Amino acid sequence: MAAKMGMKNPVVELDGDEMTRVLWALVKERLLLPFVDLKTEYYDLGLLNRDATGDAVTAEAARAIARVGVGVKCATITGNTARKAEYNLKSLHPSPNATIRAILDGTVFRKPITVAGITPSVSTWKKPIVIGRHAYGDVYKNAEMAIPGPGRVELVYTPREGGERRQLVADMAGPGVVQGMHNLDESIKNFARSCFLYALDEKLPVWFAAKDTISKIYDGRFKELFNQVYETEFKETCAAAGVSYFYTLIDDAVARVVKGEGGFLWACKNYDGDVMSDMVASASGSLAMMTSVLVSPSGAVEYEAAHGTVQQHYYRWQKGERTSTNPAALIFAWTGALAKRAELDDTPDLGAFAKNLEAATLRTIEEGDMTGDLARLASPAPVRGLDSWEFTDAVAQRLLSGSLPVSG
Ligand code: NAP
Ligand code: MG
Repeated sequence: MAAKMGMKNPVVELDGDEMTRVLWALVKERLLLPFVDLKTEYYDLGLLNRDATGDAVTAEAARAIARVGVGVKCATITGNTARKAEYNLKSLHPSPNATIRAILDGTVFRKPITVAGITPSVSTWKKPIVIGRHAYGDVYKNAEMAIPGPGRVELVYTPREGGERRQLVADMAGPGVVQGMHNLDESIKNFARSCFLYALDEKLPVWFAAKDTISKIYDGRFKELFNQVYETEFKETCAAAGVSYFYTLIDDAVARVVKGEGGFLWACKNYDGDVMSDMVASASGSLAMMTSVLVSPSGAVEYEAAHGTVQQHYYRWQKGERTSTNPAALIFAWTGALAKRAELDDTPDLGAFAKNLEAATLRTIEEGDMTGDLARLASPAPVRGLDSWEFTDAVAQRLLSGSLPVSG
């Protein structure tokens, strides 16, 4: 075998939990370490270590990504009372993804891995649809109140320097509910910046949609700020790169998405992104084939799989079963991070390796060697689904066969 490829600078590696932690080690052992002299700055975000460090390790890892520029993350358990008992935890901490997202002020982009033989439910889709979801505010940071009976509901704004502004929400005739939500100009602008940075990287057109005909001030502000960031910060770079931008009403966007052939970035407000990413994921095939990348407005990026720790498979693995858990999205998290590293460091060999590993993974599936989740969807269906170890070895064999598209 040829000498291992070197790396100029490290990527930040965030290890995780359960079945994905098992697959993480497997992917490194069989698909990365034999080929690359892997340089990583390692942080153990496994639940026990987060608990032992009072969650300091999560913030340290996020700051390391900001400093180093590229991170790759395994799926992690979000603690809850059941997990507290299961792992005998000292305390409960917020979801690591929320902590990291807050520190990097980033936007999450989700993109399905498309492969011949697994056809999306929407027959016109030829290319992946990427969803960029704004991750701050709106209904996720709302204030809600149940209204017991008739009375006036008002919005009240008290400026720091004094004074007051009021606006009637409703003169309620009877019991009901009320909700207040907010967003910040700076967060909306950073969302737009992350979207254009991602689109420039991937050479994708950008669509942004909201409901500014009804919500003239709230959604109107989103439309205005998104346009402003485009006009003042990105228009020329986008034009030079052939990246287009257009705004439309959310209703129109949904209709176009379902009739279109894909191949664009759909920038979504928080709630739209939550709902639409599930729609795109399930219509595209399997949750195990969805990749995710967090892009901060400073340009730092963190790659991961969109799925969780595959808890039920882990319990079966602990009992000795060789589960058929699909490592594809974890492999693509690594290739995304290595390709980004290669681009920043100007190391084309590493970039070619990442492309070849992706090609080997796709070819393995297209040639009928796949895990059970895909075997159920594939046409023609394979004779049997492989377990994770067989699948990983099948990818390694194709990678070694050297007949892949890109040479370093
Ligand atoms: P999950 O791990 O995504 O798994 C849900 C189901 O989806 C699995 O039971 C499995 O279905 C299928 N699946 C997901 N990934 C798969 C893969 N790679 N290969 C094959 N099948 C796959 O979600 P969960 O069980 O609801 O959550 C487990 C833990 O993950 C939770 O503690 C949660 O906090 C955490 N989580 C973390 C992240 C993250 O770190 N980004 C995201 C989401 C959830 P079958 O059982 O039918 O085979
Ligand atoms: Mg959702």
